[in-house]
Amino acid sequence: MYRSDVHTHSDASPDGHDAPAALAAAAIDCGLNALCVTDHCECNGFFPGDHMPDYLYYNDTRYDEGMAEAAEAVKGRLTLLRGVEIAQGHERPEIYREILASHRFDFVLASLHNLRGLPDFYYIDDYRSEACCNELLARYVSELFETARLPGYDSFAHIGYPVRYMRYKYGFNVSMDPFTDALEPLLRYLAENGKALELNVSGLRNPERITFPSLSVLKLFRAVGGEMVTVGTDAHRSRDIGSHIDDGYELLRQAGFGYHTVFVDRKPVLHRL
Ligand SMILES: [Zn+2]
Ligand SMILES: [Zn+2]
Repeated sequence: MYRSDVHTHSDASPDGHDAPAALAAAAIDCGLNALCVTDHCECNGFFPGDHMPDYLYYNDTRYDEGMAEAAEAVKGRLTLLRGVEIAQGHERPEIYREILASHRFDFVLASLHNLRGLPDFYYIDDYRSEACCNELLARYVSELFETARLPGYDSFAHIGYPVRYMRYKYGFNVSMDPFTDALEPLLRYLAENGKALELNVSGLRNPERITFPSLSVLKLFRAVGGEMVTVGTDAHRSRDIGSHIDDGYELLRQAGFGYHTVFVDRKPVLHRL
């Protein structure tokens, strides 16, 4: 079957470690047909103090150079796709629109890493209690809606992202389960507007083995008419490329999907599972 990893980060992301050529070599090694490199563009400044203006993190120069080098190296052995993970577009919609209008992408992932006025969930170090976590998750669901209503993206990334840090780093026993009903209108909106949902399998590399979103949310997306799901590892280093992709495809089958989706030149291509 056609296998691909369509959420990955190179060293054009501040938290990425390897050049696109190294990611592409790893993708070939694990037998993938396609790799999409989706480096971070943080519309509201995810990494203040970096050399970028503090309202934006996006290193497109490094990305373009790295991708050109990788394309030369793979020479037809791998479909190498240009992507972006564009985050907090709801906070700076004018920047969001400008980035999309001024770059050529195969695939655009929309995501949310922080709430208005707060740092990235990764950097919050005072979650304090389960009640506090659940309060933040309720706000997260509401800002997800704002992000989803932005125009011009293809797939909606990693629903449940904050849980990663609340559980892994601070040990709070929280999940998105209590918010499944609240997510239904969002999933319906994605389905009705031709958007894909991302299944992010990064959590399968952790002993807790959770996915973003969970199987129950995938099933709900299917139930409200969702057809397109993109599957990515969110690898930030070459050794994680393709990791647990097949487990992701199996989850899609369990949720009732017959295909996974890869975007090429911003158009969905469905591949049988
Ligand atoms: Zn992300
Ligand atoms: Zn990512």
